[in-house]
Amino acid sequence: MKNELSLVVSPEEAANETRLKEIAAKQLSAQPSRITFLKILKRSVDARSRNIKINLKIEVYLDVLPPAPSDYKINYPNVSSKKPVIVVGAGPAGLFAALQLIENGMKPVVLERGKDVKSRRRDLAAINKQHIVNPHSNYCFGEGGAGTYSDGKLYTRSTKRGDVNKVLEIFVAHGADENILVEAHPHIGTNKLPKIIQAMRQSITDAGGEVHFNMHVTDLIIKNDSVKGVTCNNLAENTATEFNADQLILATGHSARDIFELLHKKNILIEGKTFAMGVRVEHPQALIDSLQYHCGISEVERKRDFLPAASYSLVHQAMGRGVYSFCMCPGGIIAPCATSPGEVVTNGWSPSKRNNPFANSGIVVTIEPEDYAKYKQYGPLAGLRYQQALEQMAWNAGGQTQTAPAQRLLDFVNSKVSATLPDVSYQPGIASAPLHSLLPPEIGKRLQIGFKEFGNKMRGYLSNDAVIVGVESRTSSPVRIPRNNETLQHPQVKGLYPCAEGAGYAGGIVSAAIDGQKCANAIAAL
Ligand SMILES: Cc1cc2nc3c(=O)[nH]c(=O)nc-3n(C[C@H](O)[C@H](O)[C@H](O)COP(=O)(O)OP(=O)(O)OC[C@H]3O[C@@H](n4cnc5c(N)ncnc54)[C@H](O)[C@@H]3O)c2cc1C
Repeated sequence: MKNELSLVVSPEEAANETRLKEIAAKQLSAQPSRITFLKILKRSVDARSRNIKINLKIEVYLDVLPPAPSDYKINYPNVSSKKPVIVVGAGPAGLFAALQLIENGMKPVVLERGKDVKSRRRDLAAINKQHIVNPHSNYCFGEGGAGTYSDGKLYTRSTKRGDVNKVLEIFVAHGADENILVEAHPHIGTNKLPKIIQAMRQSITDAGGEVHFNMHVTDLIIKNDSVKGVTCNNLAENTATEFNADQLILATGHSARDIFELLHKKNILIEGKTFAMGVRVEHPQALIDSLQYHCGISEVERKRDFLPAASYSLVHQAMGRGVYSFCMCPGGIIAPCATSPGEVVTNGWSPSKRNNPFANSGIVVTIEPEDYAKYKQYGPLAGLRYQQALEQMAWNAGGQTQTAPAQRLLDFVNSKVSATLPDVSYQPGIASAPLHSLLPPEIGKRLQIGFKEFGNKMRGYLSNDAVIVGVESRTSSPVRIPRNNETLQHPQVKGLYPCAEGAGYAGGIVSAAIDGQKCANAIAAL
């Protein structure tokens, strides 16, 4: 007999299978020995009070043989002789679009300006150690896109559970831990993502699809308002190459500024949109654990035997706009995410074990068109220019390297330059800078108000043991590429499918992946 139970247990009990069986058996009025199999279906931590609880949804088998282990293997059909569909960008959207095209019996030809995950590593080391940014291979560009060396948090606001589960199962089929199907806040970790991304590429090429690296798409070939292909600069050989197809999924992400400029130059409609910018804040992880788990710093170590590194989610309305935490990385690292020389951009990641001594999070403010009115001569690119100017400010304030401008949190709130800075995880290093006056008031003032309020909500958060690092500027795209709601094609160009984060239809790995699948399905429905 199979039973589904909801349990509320202590962290220690949740980590002990024998104890869980005893608790489940009691609920079922049965002897624990009758339980042949117990599977956790959902797990979440409730740390609202000192008495921390773990909420579990479990499946319990009584007296019957345990089910066969789940097999998430997917058998993709061979599509090598099918009509090609071009996918520009091998981020989560591009990869999931390619796999969905294959599932639908079409041949994806994936064109990615960056390098494969392995070669990309060297370019990340060059950013961190020598402050050299390769504009085609960095934390945002290359195999797996911004998703590869990301945190790999797989939360999404998408309410369609079926779509989300399909994405998670495809990750598991390519090597992700099955736990991601169970956790309320699933997370893969930067150390595990590269192998999973490589396995996805293998699935694409095994099925007869193509994946081309170092292939920078520099122009779209359009005839009679219909897509016919793309022109690329093959960066490895420095030669121009053409790929032809009648359908093109444009999944180039929010950092592909040259694509926005190309579309604008070609009079293909793009629109400015609201986005968000701010800073990354970093606290000692032990401090966040002690605040969230309601214990002294000395007790944190013991709690961590049974509880994950604590996270937080904060939001406040300041001067009519949202100030909120974004992409919080417990036990994480602040990463240098610029995509061009002459700019400093921060973001964050964490390893699967989340065992670094720091907790970082983006704290950002919604940016509206009135903020970038002075760039209005750039039309739909005005927000992008504003974003660029702030990243250049950070570059100059940090000393014109990847060293980032920084300020202790309390000093920032009190508009005081920090005489010293604490240790941080950001590898290229930080330099003290008056971010309270360098950030434009529409961001700086709101952040000061927001941080004060966060300090009221989480006593101890507003501390000079914390440091802010600038700037967190690539949370979402400042540009939207319009598309028809039904066909998902650009209103002016037949066969052009603006996709995912760069086009303004997704935010984060899972929603980008879902949007990639949606575009592939829209093509199948033609
Ligand atoms: C450090 C970091 C941590 C993050 N952590 C998380 C997290 O924990 N959870 C989460 O959900 N999200 C996270 N994100 C955001 C997430 O990675 C993105 O939302 C997601 O990758 C967007 O997917 P995408 O496919 O739309 O675009 P991208 O991932 O940006 O991929 C676009 C791809 O297109 C390629 N490209 C661009 N221009 C061209 C061109 N002209 N020719 C050919 N190729 C081109 C790029 O090289 C890139 O590989 C993080 C991002 C970063 C940088």
